Amino acid sequence: MGHCKRRGYCCQDVRLAESPDMLRTAYEFWKKSAKVDPTFSEIYLIFPMLKFKYENQDEDLPYHYHCCHYTIDAEGTPTCSIHPWRPRMCRDFPYYEEEAHLDREGPLSPYEGCGYNDPD
Ligand code: SF4
Repeated sequence: MGHCKRRGYCCQDVRLAESPDMLRTAYEFWKKSAKVDPTFSEIYLIFPMLKFKYENQDEDLPYHYHCCHYTIDAEGTPTCSIHPWRPRMCRDFPYYEEEAHLDREGPLSPYEGCGYNDPD
């Protein structure tokens, strides 16, 4: 099983089931709420950090975004500018909320070239 090699593919192409309009609407709703509902998906809270790239309705996760926190450090290595505070979806990648759903025969990450797909 591989591990993150800081190649940045996932940060430059965040794939979601939610459209930009859906994310914006849910985010605006959340902003007006008195407190964060723990059942409210974090996915909606990340709307301000995502820039929409394109959609491909032939895919399970058709909406592609670029994360504004993705950057290149002084050594030329891809990095996350908010790494200690990055959202759970980033901390858990590519496991998400459960490992049980993973296809053990297939690549761990959906991103070609991702370090999680390299043998360690
Ligand atoms: S918050 Fe950081 S880890 Fe998450 S997608 Fe953006 S750059 Fe990548």
